[in-house]
Order: sequence, then structure tokens, then C-alpha cells
Amino acid sequence: MKKYDLVVVGAGTLGTFHAYHALLSGKSVLLIEKDSEPIEATVRNFGQVVPSGQALDTWFEHGRKSLNIYKNFQSKHNISARQNGSYYFASDDQEMALLEEMRALFKIKDYASTLLPKKSCFERFPNLNTEYYKGGLFFPDEISVEPRTMVHQVREMLIKHFGLHFMNNTVVNGCDIKNGICEVSTAGNEIIYAEKVAICSGHEFKILYPEIFKKSNMKICKLNMMQTFPLPEIKLSGNILSGLSIRRYDSFKSCNSYPILQTPDWQKPYSKWGIHILFKQAINGSIIIGDSHEYADADENAKLSVGIDMEINELILKESKRILNLPNWKIQNYWAGYYAQAADGGVFEHSIQDKIFISTGIGGKGMTTGAGYSQQRIHDIFK
Ligand SMILES: Cc1cc2nc3c(=O)[nH]c(=O)nc-3n(C[C@H](O)[C@H](O)[C@H](O)COP(=O)(O)OP(=O)(O)OC[C@H]3O[C@@H](n4cnc5c(N)ncnc54)[C@H](O)[C@@H]3O)c2cc1C
Repeated sequence: MKKYDLVVVGAGTLGTFHAYHALLSGKSVLLIEKDSEPIEATVRNFGQVVPSGQALDTWFEHGRKSLNIYKNFQSKHNISARQNGSYYFASDDQEMALLEEMRALFKIKDYASTLLPKKSCFERFPNLNTEYYKGGLFFPDEISVEPRTMVHQVREMLIKHFGLHFMNNTVVNGCDIKNGICEVSTAGNEIIYAEKVAICSGHEFKILYPEIFKKSNMKICKLNMMQTFPLPEIKLSGNILSGLSIRRYDSFKSCNSYPILQTPDWQKPYSKWGIHILFKQAINGSIIIGDSHEYADADENAKLSVGIDMEINELILKESKRILNLPNWKIQNYWAGYYAQAADGGVFEHSIQDKIFISTGIGGKGMTTGAGYSQQRIHDIFK
């Protein structure tokens, strides 16, 4: 009977980095994924790794740790991480004031940033519409990853160099503790034994422990995304965040002037759909544009519309065209992504007899903070 030190359920970014940190501490690890490869939030997102946008306590620190983890990986194995920084562009005086305050707050944390006057914004980004921005704030240490490949590259590397065992196309449909040993059962009637189990099942709330998720007040969030055809003549390096992102991201809520921020009338439909505008140029030259946020309770996912809502996409494109000049706006791809969001905006954690540990609901910050958060969680699981 083979018994693993840790079985991880779910091979998204949380599951993969849980596996990584456990392997680093010498544990034997099996990672189980229900699909042929992970196809949920972890591969549908922007791939922006932006600690500067996170709440200035724990989540910023998890993001900062994640940056180091990604960079350390990238120095040894290609995982598609590119250090080209993050840029926030303020569209009015209130947002500009927030950028200035934010720079001061990050200075205290010894986290590098540079205020960019309008002229420097233009020199770096001639394709940004000069009428849109007042100025910008640049975080040179931040990175982006390619979501369609990163988690697969990390997993392959863990299999090859760290001895990770991986089972795909395997739905875990039960997890019990018998005589102090975890028994993980699969839809294929296999039983796998483990000392401990980490459940990182994203927004899948129905297969394992539905009663716990029902009580959790967790939400499921649907996001609309789109991607242009490759535009090699455009150079849009780094993570690009707009005025609406400044208004939305948690870090800015620590600024003194945040509570007096006014919402102009034209922004009301944007607030209704939780739209803020982000851009990232993928390695193939296409530009990824998003996003919006629609929420439903964990046990009411059918309330989220089935299709891609074009009213939302039109709003996204309208504001994107105010920010950026592109030679054409032909869209190659529209898609929706879904993530689980813990009720308190942090992460949902639950443990059963100090043996089975659920970690999900990291929300819209998993690519930024998941690697660092998983390190802390694995430390707690094996302490
Ligand atoms: C459109 C979009 C844009 C985003 N942009 C960003 C961004 O730029 N930066 C950022 O920091 N974050 C971003 N996020 C958030 C980020 O993608 C998520 O926080 C993160 O991917 C969540 O990872 P996860 O491992 O918890 O979940 P998931 O990626 O959903 O992975 C969970 C995995 O568990 C598997 N699973 C579930 N149940 C079982 C079972 N019973 N048996 C076996 N396998 C199971 C699933 O198949 C899935 O592969 C974005 C999210 C979306 C949707």
C-alpha cells in the first residue's frame, strides 16, 4: 500500500504551488486533476503578477513572496515569467492623487515604484491616448506570466526534477479519515492513501464537502475577457492598469483620499458590472483585454449567464478605445473565466481533524499571491 505524505486535489495554481512547497520540504506528493489538464481560472486569466494592487498587509506580502518564487523558478527553468513591470495610469486628478499617496505607502515598505509624468508615459507608451492619462505609477519589479502555459511548465518541472506524481482525468469524489490515515477515493473507484490531503478545488463546490462550501458564504465570480489578433507593430510591455483599476484594487483603499473618491455618472454601468480595464500583451503580440465581475452564491452558479454578455464587452471595448490607440480592434477570442471568492475577500480555509485542509476562494489575486500563500499554508499543514 503506497501512502503519500500529501495528496493535493486540483492542479490549478494553488494546488500546483501547494505541491511545490511540500516537495521542497522533502514530502512525497501526488497531485490529482479532474481534467486532462487544468483548464479553469489558472489558465483563463491575465497572468498579471501585481502585488502593488493587493491589500497592504498579508496579501501584498504573499504577492511579494510569489514574485521571488516565480523569479527563482525562471532563473532555472522557463516558466514564461517576464519582468517588465506594472503601470497604473490615472485618468483624472483624484486617481493621480491616489497614485502619489500609493507611492509614499510603498516607499515605507521599501517596494520600488516611480511616478511617471505625462511626458514619460508618452515616451514609454506612444500608443496610449494622451487625452486619457494625467500620469502614471510604475512598479519595475513586477512580472507577468503566460497563463495558458505557466502552470503546465511548473508542473512538468516538478515531475521531472522533484519527483511529483501526477494523475489527470481523475475526479476525486470522496475523502475520509480512517484509523488516522486519509483515504482519497476517485470516480474510477481507486483509493489512495495519504498522511494529509490539501483540497485546492477552485470553484468546484459540489463534489467534495458541498455542505461546508454551502455554509461558507463563498461566491463564484464570472469574468469576461477578450484577446486581439497579434499586433506585432505595437509594443505594450508590462501589466497595464487603468484609472478604473486604481478605483477597484485593494491597495488603494489604504490611501487617505480613497474614501472621498467621487464616481462620475458615466462610470455607473462600469461599477454595476465590476468592470475595470487591464491590458497585457501576450508573447505572440496579441493584446489581452478585460475584465468584468458578476457574482453568484456558491450553491447558485446557474444564476450566472451562460453566454458571453456582449453588453459588458461593448462597455469594456468602449473604455479600452478611450485608453489605447490600436491599428485595429479585431478580436480573435472572447472567453469567460470563473473563480471562487471567499466571503471576507481573503481566502477560504477549513481543516478536518488536522488531516484534510481546504484552501480555495483566493479570488482575483491567485496568480499574484498563490505561490507565496501556498508556502505559508504548507508550513501550517505540516507544522
Ligand atoms: C478571467 C480571469 C482573470 C484573472 N486575472 C488574474 C491576474 O491577472 N492576476 C491574478 O493574480 N489573478 C488573476 N485571476 C485569478 C486567478 O486566476 C485565480 O485566483 C487562480 O487561478 C485560482 O487558482 P485555483 O488553483 O484556486 O483554482 P483553479 O484554477 O480553478 O484550479 C482548481 C482545479 O481543481 C480541479 N478540481 C476541482 N475539483 C476537483 C476534484 N474533485 N477532483 C480533481 N480535480 C478537481 C479543477 O479541475 C481545477 O483545475 C484571474 C481570474 C480570472 C478568471
